[in-house]
Amino acid sequence: MKEKPLRMCVSCRTMKPKDMLIRVVKTPDGIFVDKTGKRNGRGAYLCKEGNCIELLAKNKALNRAFQCEVSPDVIEGLKKELSNGADELG
Ligand SMILES: [Zn+2]
Repeated sequence: MKEKPLRMCVSCRTMKPKDMLIRVVKTPDGIFVDKTGKRNGRGAYLCKEGNCIELLAKNKALNRAFQCEVSPDVIEGLKKELSNGADELG
């Protein structure tokens, strides 16, 4: 049995296998959902399931992870990107 690498969700601080999480990356151009998992930049992980993204607006977990102010607009953008991604997966 090969163990999957675990990563911690910055929002609920639960350790989960990478494929249960989405990677968000901070680049000089802004903060994006990293669908490939290969983008350069400071990364943070969030649960795919549940409301961890919703909670970000309140718990400021991304501010801590990225050590900068993350505006509610950015979080809205991430939520949109994710819902688009879900459509692609069908
Ligand atoms: Zn979580």
